[in-house]
Amino acid sequence: MRKTIIAGNWKMNHLGSDVDSTLKALTKAVGTSSKAEIVIAPVFPYLASAVALTKGTPVRIAAQNMHWKDKGAYTGEVSPAMLVDLGVSHVIIGHSERRMDCNERDATVNLKVKAALAHGLTPIMCCGETLEQREKGDMQSWIEGQIEKGLAAITPEQMRSVVIAYEPIWAIGTGKTASAAQAEEVCAIIRRKIAALYDRALADDVSILYGGSVKGGNIAELTGSADIDGALVGGASLQAEDFMAIIDNAVIK
Ligand code: PEP
Repeated sequence: MRKTIIAGNWKMNHLGSDVDSTLKALTKAVGTSSKAEIVIAPVFPYLASAVALTKGTPVRIAAQNMHWKDKGAYTGEVSPAMLVDLGVSHVIIGHSERRMDCNERDATVNLKVKAALAHGLTPIMCCGETLEQREKGDMQSWIEGQIEKGLAAITPEQMRSVVIAYEPIWAIGTGKTASAAQAEEVCAIIRRKIAALYDRALADDVSILYGGSVKGGNIAELTGSADIDGALVGGASLQAEDFMAIIDNAVIK
């Protein structure tokens, strides 16, 4: 079933004391139940404490990346088995900052999505176009290509556990949010592509999130759109109060 998901990507922010205070404030504000699935992605060193701090609450913990192998000679990497061992439930895969700064490609995104699923982790697979691609009229083919290559060899059964995040690169951390109409257009393109790769009923069950300067003031319009099922939030997830405003104002379909 399609879920509303509000996920916070803390990126390389927050020391241990900030992780502690922010998660304590967030879990207190959320209480014992939430209509939206709430996910927070701290940096690797604080995943264990984040899992402990959110135990028994509706807040789930994600990693911001992982390797696709279980173990071995991969210096500096973290495996899906290690994330599961820590109690992590979700993992962000193919964020545009990793695609641009760490040379992450669709083929490795696909390996990571497959590994996450094999380990029972929920992958949040990111896609998104640059402003240049949008202005050249290449947005649709680029997004469809990222979806097709990122999901290669994912079975229909596995696809039910995949979450997609559409994040136009020109809207990330820039304060420029895509209009609800622009975001909806692309999320609908993604859903149609998933329907073409699998079938319409399955595509209708996949949660597709929008990311790019989401705030408490724009989440209602975004999630009020037919194909937007939540948000992947960067800057506005760092403070519990700002993130709560997004959770509270999200439209649950
Ligand atoms: C992100 O990095 O995933 C993101 C959406 O960032 P921001 O909300 O700050 O634009």
